[in-house]
Amino acid sequence: MNITRAKGTRDIFYDEMDNFSKIEEEIRKVCMLHNINEIRVPVFEQAELFARGVGDGTDIVTKEMYTFEDRGGRSMTLRPEFTAGVVRAYLENGFASKASPVKLWYNGTAYRYEKMQKGRYREFRQFGVEIFGASSYRAEIEAIVIAKEVLESIGLMNKLKLKINSIGCTECRKKYTEKLREYLKDKIDGMCTDCKNRYEKNIMRIIDCKEDLEIKKSMPMITDNLCEECKNDFENVKSMLDSLNIDYEIDKTIVRGLDYYNKTVFEFVSKDLDLAVGGGGRYDTLVETLGGTPTNAVGFALGLDRIEMLVKDLNKSYKKYVDMYFVVTDDEAFKVAYNLGEKLRKLDIITDIDILDRSFNAQLKYASKINAKNIGIIGENELKAGIITVKNMENSSQVTADLDAKVIKDVIKLLNKKGE
Ligand code: AMP
Repeated sequence: MNITRAKGTRDIFYDEMDNFSKIEEEIRKVCMLHNINEIRVPVFEQAELFARGVGDGTDIVTKEMYTFEDRGGRSMTLRPEFTAGVVRAYLENGFASKASPVKLWYNGTAYRYEKMQKGRYREFRQFGVEIFGASSYRAEIEAIVIAKEVLESIGLMNKLKLKINSIGCTECRKKYTEKLREYLKDKIDGMCTDCKNRYEKNIMRIIDCKEDLEIKKSMPMITDNLCEECKNDFENVKSMLDSLNIDYEIDKTIVRGLDYYNKTVFEFVSKDLDLAVGGGGRYDTLVETLGGTPTNAVGFALGLDRIEMLVKDLNKSYKKYVDMYFVVTDDEAFKVAYNLGEKLRKLDIITDIDILDRSFNAQLKYASKINAKNIGIIGENELKAGIITVKNMENSSQVTADLDAKVIKDVIKLLNKKGE
């Protein structure tokens, strides 16, 4: 039997895994520096949560969810995104009674049954932030800045464009959708099937559909139909982004795929590939939709698979390296080296050693395969003299040193410098 991985899933290892680790390290750092708390929510939830939270009319709910009946006859769904689950956790754990605003971040896998294409998987990874309890445009700024800083810290920001839009509040949207419905009334028959459905169920999504562009040329846009408050908020977002020197583009076609957004929405899009690496916005009605009291909320999600794909294109390497690889000739040398290795690790020196009892030459070959920066040779002579030969593999300089971890750490530093 030849068992292969399920379509749309991936195994991540070696160089790719190093890239993911670097991205995750930067995420953790940026979130810590912004005083955001990490949250972990379940991979599966009651199906009802996503139907209500993400929206009955969305592509995710109608076409893409992994929903199954568990052995107890309950309908469960693998999370297609995190926001609904985080809101459920917010309500279930009484976060509303914590100091406001409640600021959370997550990182994990999400599942959508999608058609396979570049950067699109059925199991993919998302990092995101959710901020509850802030009605001010300042929360949108905080969300955009965190996303930008993560993307910047891994050198991606100059490959990306920040696009922003405002899709208004419930009030201006109600008026706008009437206007849009009126405008499209005698045109909708000639439009694509998806838009025909959206006209009935989710008319705002007609805005970001890429079909029938001729008809859409003079379509009223929500951005031009905002109430005073929404207009003001959007102006504040823009002027704050200006003051932070963050480049952005207003894109009136961004409405985001999920039902729950309002006011400011944004996306980070690849300049070369026209592919979104992430996006988010304000969603002031979702907490109430899921059974809570009305609570302001802002959030975003970035796709780690797409970020990693772009990191790969940069030809940057976040490959892990080994500071010190011990080459030993026999069990006695292994014992000495292993003890020394434990002390070096306590000094944050990444250390490895032969555990296959291989020949001297085979150990050297392995050291070069794993890109060890230095090798520490303990052979017969070294054992007798109670010393180690440390050799820098990049510039071939070498010295002997006492079997003392602190001394060896200094020696490694010194040899590294010789190559500079
Ligand atoms: P969304 O919630 O659809 O806006 O997704 C946010 C981000 O998650 C996107 O910009 C992508 O980077 C990522 N993403 C969404 N769906 C997928 C997928 N099927 N495969 C890989 N990444 C995805």
